[in-house]
Amino acid sequence: MSLILIVEDEPKIAELLQKYLQNADYQTAHLARGDEVAPWLATQQPDLILLDLMLPGKDGLEVCKDIRMHSRIPVIMLTARVEEIDRLLGLELGADDYICKPFSPREMVARVKAVLRRFEQLPDENPLAKTSPPHGLTLDRNRLRVSIDAQDVSLTRVEFDLLDALHAQPGRIFSRQQLMERVYPDNRIVSDRTIDSHIKKLRKKIHLLAPQQELIHSVYSVGYKFEA
Ligand code: CA
Repeated sequence: MSLILIVEDEPKIAELLQKYLQNADYQTAHLARGDEVAPWLATQQPDLILLDLMLPGKDGLEVCKDIRMHSRIPVIMLTARVEEIDRLLGLELGADDYICKPFSPREMVARVKAVLRRFEQLPDENPLAKTSPPHGLTLDRNRLRVSIDAQDVSLTRVEFDLLDALHAQPGRIFSRQQLMERVYPDNRIVSDRTIDSHIKKLRKKIHLLAPQQELIHSVYSVGYKFEA
């Protein structure tokens, strides 16, 4: 049974999280202060941490940074404002997902499951292996083609730039805004939807090359990331 650590100072939210996670057959532990996390982790090993951003003692940003100094435990950050997520992404904390309050408990459980599943599928406990690109994916900028295991497919310039940005930093979550800046450096105004539709086409092409695995993951309400 997986153990989920909840770090949340609002008793009602903590209670809700615990209730739904326990109903989904997870074990839970709860801390209400950020500065309690490090001492707790010295003796316990959770499978995932749900971490609120605004916490007494030490804020979620610092706690997440501390965790990432010595561990790859999946972290889902809880934030109160959706605009905050863009700022957090820019800080590259290494969180695996972001959930904005208020959230639907069912959605929260689904996201916990998805992050755990992704983490379990990673090859081994070697932290370097978790960030290295998958074997065999090669990008050819001159020909705008991507190949996996000797098969290749042509991409549009925009699709190529998107894949290039995501693939260069596996596991990093990019917001749509960050991707737009990569793809349209001239600051052309395009909508979030434009990025989504390019990603959709890109995924279809990648799927032709690697039907067994999902390489480009959407991170709900946040953006996208590349992960084998
Ligand atoms: Ca809080």
